[in-house]
Amino acid sequence: MPESLSADLVALRDRIRTFVEADLRPLEVGLEEEGPVPEEIRRRVRERSKELGLFGMTQPVEFGGTEAGPLAMTVARETLAAGNTPLSRFVFGPDPGLLRRLEGDLRTRYREPVLAGEKTWSFAFTEPSGPGAPAKPTWAVRDGDHLVVTGRKSFVTGGATADFYATLVNVDESAEGPAGTAMLLIDRALSGVKVDRAFRSMEGGGHVEISFDAVRVPMTNLLGKIGEGMPRAMGNIGEERLGSAASACGIALWTVEYVTKHITGGHRAGGRLGDREGVRLRYADLRIETYAARATLYRTARLAESGVDVMNEGAAAKVFCTEVASRVVDGALQLVGGQALIQGHPLESLYRRVRSMRLAAGASDILRLGVARGIIEFDAGTV
Ligand SMILES: Cc1cc2nc3c(=O)[nH]c(=O)nc-3n(C[C@H](O)[C@H](O)[C@H](O)COP(=O)(O)OP(=O)(O)OC[C@H]3O[C@@H](n4cnc5c(N)ncnc54)[C@H](O)[C@@H]3O)c2cc1C
Repeated sequence: MPESLSADLVALRDRIRTFVEADLRPLEVGLEEEGPVPEEIRRRVRERSKELGLFGMTQPVEFGGTEAGPLAMTVARETLAAGNTPLSRFVFGPDPGLLRRLEGDLRTRYREPVLAGEKTWSFAFTEPSGPGAPAKPTWAVRDGDHLVVTGRKSFVTGGATADFYATLVNVDESAEGPAGTAMLLIDRALSGVKVDRAFRSMEGGGHVEISFDAVRVPMTNLLGKIGEGMPRAMGNIGEERLGSAASACGIALWTVEYVTKHITGGHRAGGRLGDREGVRLRYADLRIETYAARATLYRTARLAESGVDVMNEGAAAKVFCTEVASRVVDGALQLVGGQALIQGHPLESLYRRVRSMRLAAGASDILRLGVARGIIEFDAGTV
């Protein structure tokens, strides 16, 4: 197998597999497809996850977590995705993400409540597009010790209930300083913040479009300095993309196992589908592509584990693994036939999930441009 794991990581993988089958499967019974999950079930997932040492893997050590490295997180995310359970999203504790490096007052007011599960936040990066979209991306002007923010953000996942938004803004040039990008923490309760529209994307995610109408945000809510917005927003993006790649590989693994069972079981035409040579060719492609994607995933995870900045490699892995997962799920659907198109069939919902993954956390072609730029302009990376 391409992962070649140490004994510790094999034990982690086995622990998660057992957790999925012994603890999560029974809790899934009776849950509505893509419907809300009752708090009692979430609580039971969290508690068992804590007992197994999984919950704290995404949390800083000083907060009682174990802050697992990229390789262990890759194993964990891939294995959970390969379990194909709707409860996987409640397994890990809140991840500070770009709030990781907050200090002082921001740490107390935002980071600690997020880690404790007392506050939630959303990432507000994407500008609306298409007819009626604002001509100018969300901007801010300096006003003494405040920034006054105006504009709109779209596709803000979880934004309907988030307590605050980590928002990328362009600060205009003024007598007080030059133009630059900035990451600002904007409370949903502030005057002028409005959730204009809530919508769902095809994989079931809930998002909102927000408008900011001259919202006064204290300068103290800046992450770093004006001019550092984009690098802050992209802070740990390499590892986030590695996370998407790991989930994509997990989905591909689940799918090839599903297809294996399907083509080696009986078929109404007699015999097994897997005895037909044409089916074997298609099936082998699913296996080959999954193998290649996992080799890319684990190579990138090992680079990240060794401390290398995987900006380029993470982007390459995200593009490759999510596109492979899309082809694998598509190919599986074709081999399983019409029944896989019925709403509620696991391949039908995976088909929608993997499609979204090629846009979320960076559209494939935009990441391709980034990889080319990394090589041509910066001579960086190992891709
Ligand atoms: C499930 C999901 C969750 C998301 N969650 C969030 C979130 O929490 N916060 C947030 O801010 N955003 C979120 N997004 C938005 C996501 O980041 C964007 O959809 C993505 O970055 C693409 O941006 P866009 O939709 O504006 O498309 P556009 O930027 O308009 O691009 C559309 C297409 O045009 C092409 N294209 C654009 N520019 C170029 C170019 N220069 N060269 C070649 N081709 C180009 C590409 O094919 C691209 O796919 C989410 C999206 C999804 C699907």
